[in-house]
Amino acid sequence: MSQMISTNTLRTFNNFETPFFYYDMKVLSDTVAALATAQQKYHIKAHYALKANAEKRVLKTISKGGIAAECATGNEIKLALETGFAPKDIFFDGVAKTDKEILFALKSDIACFNCENIQEIEIINEFAGRLGKKAHIAVRVNPDVDAHTHKFITTGMEEDKFGISQWAFDNLIKVLDTCGNLVFEGLHFHIGSQITDLSVFETLCRRVIEIQDWFDSKGYTSANLNLGGGLGVDYDHPLTNWLPDFDGLCHTISENLPIKSGQQIHIEPGRSLVAQCGHIISRVVFIKEGQKKKFAILDCGMHTLIRPALYQAHHEVENLSCVNEQDTYNVVGCVCESSDTFAENMKGGKPHRGDLFAIHSAGAYGQVMNMTYLQRNLAPAVYSDEI
Ligand SMILES: *Cc1c(COP(=O)(O)O)cnc(C)c1O
Repeated sequence: MSQMISTNTLRTFNNFETPFFYYDMKVLSDTVAALATAQQKYHIKAHYALKANAEKRVLKTISKGGIAAECATGNEIKLALETGFAPKDIFFDGVAKTDKEILFALKSDIACFNCENIQEIEIINEFAGRLGKKAHIAVRVNPDVDAHTHKFITTGMEEDKFGISQWAFDNLIKVLDTCGNLVFEGLHFHIGSQITDLSVFETLCRRVIEIQDWFDSKGYTSANLNLGGGLGVDYDHPLTNWLPDFDGLCHTISENLPIKSGQQIHIEPGRSLVAQCGHIISRVVFIKEGQKKKFAILDCGMHTLIRPALYQAHHEVENLSCVNEQDTYNVVGCVCESSDTFAENMKGGKPHRGDLFAIHSAGAYGQVMNMTYLQRNLAPAVYSDEI
């Protein structure tokens, strides 16, 4: 018997067409509560990165839990406002904010633009002037710190497209000096995702202090220091170790980054808040018995969860229908690509046509990245408290 799903729940799964995203709302609310506790204990303000999961019920649970928002697009800002986040709690990040998005964000009176390049700062200044407003901005600095994670999700190295690097700081100050419609709020960092080694944040804090001192010396003091997201989750033990170490993260930051009076530290967790509450529930369409390998072919695929194909990400896979008889097999998706594989040589319950499988830790960067490739339907959300 799965630790996640009771016999009753499993029975109700038969009422739904597969594949679907199953959200355990107790896991979500407990995860949100743990983050809320940590942010209070360490006086850190957490902003949930909507890009990890943008289902309205998920967002409402997070906003009700007292977490602020981090948005990457104008539409995410719109959604955040619709789901209970206050404008004063919304940060706007992104390397390619369009004119329309900047204007919308200014009109919505969001808390802060996290700016990624000098041209962007000039444009926000110009648009704010046009609207007769002051835009609050933070500068996203590229701190050249290695997050020790997959190269596709490393974002804080000198050669990444993100943030402003140290060599450009002098020019940045010159530009800031001429921007009369901006309020400088501070510095922003985000060095990567799925970071499981907290010492990476220690290194980041040391860089933040150095960079802050430099900006202070130029007369740009930081009311806000934002260390971004990136806290990792345990993809290997999604059912037993589902609570991310928010306390450890906040503790590491508060130990290594002394705050000045009136200063506020921010973090922007995305994945860590939502990964473990979500599971894909899918059915075995066919079994293929090869000469060397056996395949369980699911009715979901890389169009449902792209992380394995895109980042070689590992997700635990479980046969919910058969647990007693064991077998070794590959679990593959239904798309005609060999990278569409969820598990190789997995030891688990013997698969049969029609068995229900769970792919765990699918709450983050899962449903938001769904696509209709091959004209398949988008997998809907099913919530544990609604079945
Ligand atoms: C993606 C992103 C986040 C969230 O990252 P996670 O790894 O999901 O915690 C936070 N801040 C910025 C700027 C981002 O781009």
